[in-house]
Amino acid sequence: MSHNVDFYREYAKGFWTEINEVFSMRIPKHNYLPIVFEELTKRAEKESIYGFTHTHQNERTKLNSLYPVVYLRDDRSDEELKETIRHEIIHYYLGLHYFKYQDNTAMFWLISDLFSGGAYVELGERERQIYNIVKGTLNNLFQRYNTTDDKNKITTKLSLILCAVDDYEVNSDKKLSGLELVCRACSTIL
Ligand SMILES: [Zn+2]
Repeated sequence: MSHNVDFYREYAKGFWTEINEVFSMRIPKHNYLPIVFEELTKRAEKESIYGFTHTHQNERTKLNSLYPVVYLRDDRSDEELKETIRHEIIHYYLGLHYFKYQDNTAMFWLISDLFSGGAYVELGERERQIYNIVKGTLNNLFQRYNTTDDKNKITTKLSLILCAVDDYEVNSDKKLSGLELVCRACSTIL
């Protein structure tokens, strides 16, 4: 069975629109999603690769490139392919916004929780702590986002939490009690 590229490209575009709407970042919204779909290669088959997010700097021109790649493997179901698409788009979204975007970051796990992105790489101790502090608040806010008509208010809080997570994840000497305060402040209904 071979998968229909156009179908998955549409699915990816839909998810890209959604994730851009949920958070409101200072960077203008990016309508264009440079996702690459590839047929299964020998290398991917051998290493059981489902997708990856390409990051590269051209040494001569210093141009950076960043884009998600998904393998349309015959041995993967529709649901599995969609999860890989969400997984790689989350990496790409975070990378594009200068956040930590790797698999072993609290940031990736938290966003992955909201969109079933299939985070699987173990977290270090601090990352695990950050994840545990923020998880409940972020999930509650996301539920409210999905059920309220006043989405702007929730979007602002969701974005604020992301920035805080990034701050505490990048600055590893910052006391996490500050992050708890941010979560508590964002939980109150204004
Ligand atoms: Zn990943």
